[in-house]
Amino acid sequence: MSAIEVNDLRKSYGQFEAVRGISFSVELGEVFCVLGPNGAGKTTTTEILEGYRTRDSGQVSVLGFDPAGGPRGLRERVGIVLQSCGVQADLSVAELIDMYGRYYHERRSAEELIKIVELDAKRETRARQLSGGQRRRLDLALALVGDPDLIFLDEPTTGFDPHARRQAWSTIRSLCELGKTIFLTTHFMDEAQTLADRVAVMRAGTIVAEGRPDELGGRELRPSEIRFTLPDGHVAAELPSMPGAEVTREGDRVLVATHAVVPTTALITGWAVEQTIELANFSVTRPTLEDIYLELTGEASQ
Ligand code: ATP
Repeated sequence: MSAIEVNDLRKSYGQFEAVRGISFSVELGEVFCVLGPNGAGKTTTTEILEGYRTRDSGQVSVLGFDPAGGPRGLRERVGIVLQSCGVQADLSVAELIDMYGRYYHERRSAEELIKIVELDAKRETRARQLSGGQRRRLDLALALVGDPDLIFLDEPTTGFDPHARRQAWSTIRSLCELGKTIFLTTHFMDEAQTLADRVAVMRAGTIVAEGRPDELGGRELRPSEIRFTLPDGHVAAELPSMPGAEVTREGDRVLVATHAVVPTTALITGWAVEQTIELANFSVTRPTLEDIYLELTGEASQ
C-alpha cells in the first residue's frame, strides 16, 4: 500500500481553478516534497490530504483512508505542522507536549520529543518566550506527539536562521530513520535537495515535473559546464579538440559545455600544463535543482 494516492484531484475557488487534475503517489517511508511558487496550489493540495479542505473531484487515499471528513482512524496516525499554529502561549514546552499527548491512545513521551526537536534547554520556557525557530520546533514536537506514521510539514523552516534550519533538517532526517513517511512543502531548493527522496514541482495547479532531486527535469542528462579564464595572449581556438563539447565565450571566460566532464576536464588541464599556462577561475558545475526549478516554473527570465 502507498502512504498517499492522489488521482485527478481538482479544487476550484469560485471560478478560479487552484488545483487542476493532479495525480501522484507517495510510498511508505518516503520523503516526498512539493515545490512551487506562491499560489501554485501546494497548500490547497496539502490541506485536502490533511482533511482540512474539501475537494471538488478526484480520488484521494491517505494511509488507506479518504481524508474528507477527517476520519478519527486517520487523525490518530497523522501528524501535522501548519505554517502557523496557535498554541496556548502561557504554557511551557513540557506542559504543551503533555497536554497534546492526552488526545492520543499511542503517544511518545515528552522527554523523548524534547530530545528529538532539541529543546532540552527550553523545556520549562513558556511558548510565548520562544524564538520563531524554537516555536516551529515546538510545533514539530506537537505534531509528533501521537507517534504518527505520516507527517505533513508545510514550509517547516521558513523564518529559520541557517543554524536552526540545519537543526530542523537533522530532526527531519531522524524521523526518516524511524521509518516515518514525510510530505513536505518548501520554497527552498537546498531543503528539497537535502531531504527529499522525490520531488513534485507544481505550477498553476498542475504538476510540471516529478522525480528524484538529481533527476528532475532531465537534470542528470544535461551537460556540465567548465569555465575558466585564459591568460592574456591566448584564445579559445588554441584549445585541443574536445569531442562532443561546445565551446563559447562568457565575458572574459571560456565556457565548455559537455556530457563527458572527466575526459574533457583532463584534456583542458593537460593542455594547460603542457603550455605551462594558468587557467584562472577554473570551475566545473552541474545544473542545480534551482536552475531546473526556475526553468520548470517559468521564472527563469523574470
Ligand atoms: P504559497 O506558496 O504562497 O503558500 P500555495 O502553492 O500553497 O502558495 P495555495 O495556497 O494552495 O498556493 O493557493 C492556490 C491558489 O488558490 C492561489 O491563487 C490562491 O489565491 C487561491 N486560494 C487559496 N485559498 C483560497 C480561498 N480560500 N479562496 C479563494 N482563493 C483561494
